[in-house]
Amino acid sequence: MLHPGTKEPITESDLAPLFPAELIAQEFTKDRDVDIPGAVLDVYKQWRPAPLVRARRLEQALDTPARIYFKYEGVSPAGSHKPNTAVPQAYYNKLAGVAKLTTETGAGQWGSSLSLACSYFGLECEVFMVKISYQQKPYRRGLMQTYGATVHASPSELTQAGRDALAADPDNPGSLGLAISEAVEAAVVGGDDVKYALGSVLNHVLMHQTIIGQEARLQLELAEDYPDIVIGAAGGGSNFGGLALPFLREQLEGGRSVRAIAVEPSSCPSLTEGKYDYDFGDTAGLTPLAKMHTLGHDFRPPAIHAGGLRYHGMAPIISALKEAELLEARAVPQTACFEAGVTFARNEGIVPAPESTHAVRVAIDEALRAKEEGVSRSILFSLSGHGHFDMQAYADYFAGDLTD
Ligand SMILES: *Cc1c(COP(=O)(O)O)cnc(C)c1O
Repeated sequence: MLHPGTKEPITESDLAPLFPAELIAQEFTKDRDVDIPGAVLDVYKQWRPAPLVRARRLEQALDTPARIYFKYEGVSPAGSHKPNTAVPQAYYNKLAGVAKLTTETGAGQWGSSLSLACSYFGLECEVFMVKISYQQKPYRRGLMQTYGATVHASPSELTQAGRDALAADPDNPGSLGLAISEAVEAAVVGGDDVKYALGSVLNHVLMHQTIIGQEARLQLELAEDYPDIVIGAAGGGSNFGGLALPFLREQLEGGRSVRAIAVEPSSCPSLTEGKYDYDFGDTAGLTPLAKMHTLGHDFRPPAIHAGGLRYHGMAPIISALKEAELLEARAVPQTACFEAGVTFARNEGIVPAPESTHAVRVAIDEALRAKEEGVSRSILFSLSGHGHFDMQAYADYFAGDLTD
């Protein structure tokens, strides 16, 4: 990463205003393994290991010879994989004497996960929520408040970045990049005991999420299987990376090879159509520049419903693996995703989050391809969350109001 002012490679001390030392050390570490602290494991135990499920009814409905498995992350209290990193982030901040965390949220999944983690560890939490979601998703906002967080619609009058955006356009509906600018600014001006937390993209976040793939490997061992294909929805890349990286590590160490497929919405196609270049993580240019696939830091994604996947950039680790051709990327339109989500719900009972339907779509496509080719493949995908707070999107789909 490069410093936003000097454009020189950043050092650990450059990040000190934003993150506690232990998380910065993890961001830079070259260690292959980092132990999970006992206090974090104690929280994980409430819902982990997350179930690995063989989707037998879906297999039958598709009449496919493929074996389809999904790793279900919707069993966390916030309903997605995001507490896997929110909990250790809150823990390391608490350990460092931090009193308050600031963050941004799009659809509200990350904001509610960090609010939950802050309430576990007795930290204050301030969330800048993209204005359009703040208005359209009042239940996620209510969930954050239930966990004790303060929630602002972004752009807000509370930061310079927010005031500048409102001065340029009072009707600015907000974006994830702009909300990040506000949260970073609030942490920096807040003083030493206020830090910032990011829910995806960074190395330490992907590392925390590898618990998904590590558990899945052990669970598949019990089932005496190994995936030929692993699939995950990719917004900033932490859910996909969390599932795929442990399997890619095995491959790079000479083990079995897998096809890893990252799935993104065709309305925000950073991996499939973005440039591979240095770019800011936020709109105002306050964050370090990361080398990643990006649509440009001023990209304003259209207001599609799969809110968690509307980020202009991609995790540098995922971007580098794409450049090295160690993974595939696919962009899919949202109506095809909802169609797959409904098929999944009718066979497996779980209503997928709109983000997760992207992985379901490609898992079904690959299972149908296996049928065409008459081969029995093992397909593993991440069902990153449930859609109980997103039923309006499903209602819109049934009413024919969703477009691509
Ligand atoms: C946020 C979110 C995603 C995308 O997450 P990244 O880790 O940033 O790629 C996928 N699914 C669900 C349910 C989410 O909440």
